[in-house]
Amino acid sequence: MRLKDKVAIVTGAASGMGASTAKIFANQGAKVLVTDMLEDEGAGVVAEITKADGEARFQRLDVTSEADWDSAVAAALAAYGKLDILVNNAGVSGSTPDLLNLDTWDQQMNINAKGVFLGMRAVIPVMQKGGGGSIVNISSISGFVGQEYVHMGYSAAKGAVRLATKAAAVQHAKDGIRVNSVHPGIMPPMRTSKLTADPELRAKMIAAIPMAREGGVEEVAYANLFLASDEASYITGIEVPVDGGYLAV
Ligand code: NAD
Repeated sequence: MRLKDKVAIVTGAASGMGASTAKIFANQGAKVLVTDMLEDEGAGVVAEITKADGEARFQRLDVTSEADWDSAVAAALAAYGKLDILVNNAGVSGSTPDLLNLDTWDQQMNINAKGVFLGMRAVIPVMQKGGGGSIVNISSISGFVGQEYVHMGYSAAKGAVRLATKAAAVQHAKDGIRVNSVHPGIMPPMRTSKLTADPELRAKMIAAIPMAREGGVEEVAYANLFLASDEASYITGIEVPVDGGYLAV
């Protein structure tokens, strides 16, 4: 088991890549705090894990709330006694019809960028005390390049995650804390995707991918698994695109 006895918090774990990550982590021996704002769906993920003899609990966590972060870290420590891994996965899509909307910019910065910072801020002191840990921040190919149908706030927020990851990696290597970012490409649409959920537009987007298909949620979850595990013990501050070759073109 690649995460035997590790304790992990996964945000946005009620859906998509977060749910897949939580299930694969539990399957590999981790005790997982499944967090999200969607309580029923989150409880469903926990039920699936438990049914498969894994260990998980649900905790409601809005990543923009400092108080929720404090409660989530306290819940992980109360239930499992330590904290080894954080996957900062929660996010909202920037694929919206009004690409100049100011509220979207603010929402992107608040959830997709600040939410990731608040997560690192909440877990780093605990990981320092515990002798180390691994943080995996989910960015996007939009953190590298602009895209026609994605609000610039999404790219800016995902770019912020990419660079905040490197800063945290440099600042906390001495604490034994590794921090890396994962950059999914064209994946199944997010719950909040609008333009890019359209099948016609998706066909065009997929035509730009060397592998000529969208990614599966597990393909990102397995990258998260590697980075979270001790197999990646000398890897910090790097960007891992999981994009079928999109950025290689
Ligand atoms: P998804 O919509 O299926 O899942 C996102 C989850 O985040 C949802 O369960 C949602 O409830 C949760 N969430 C949203 N706001 C939150 C908040 N404030 N606090 C806590 N939870 C919140 O989407 P997904 O495709 O699984 O996306 C996961 C991550 O991957 C996101 O960070 C997203 O930006 C990134 N990403 C997605 C794609 C894609 O095409 N789907 C591509 C690249 C990157």
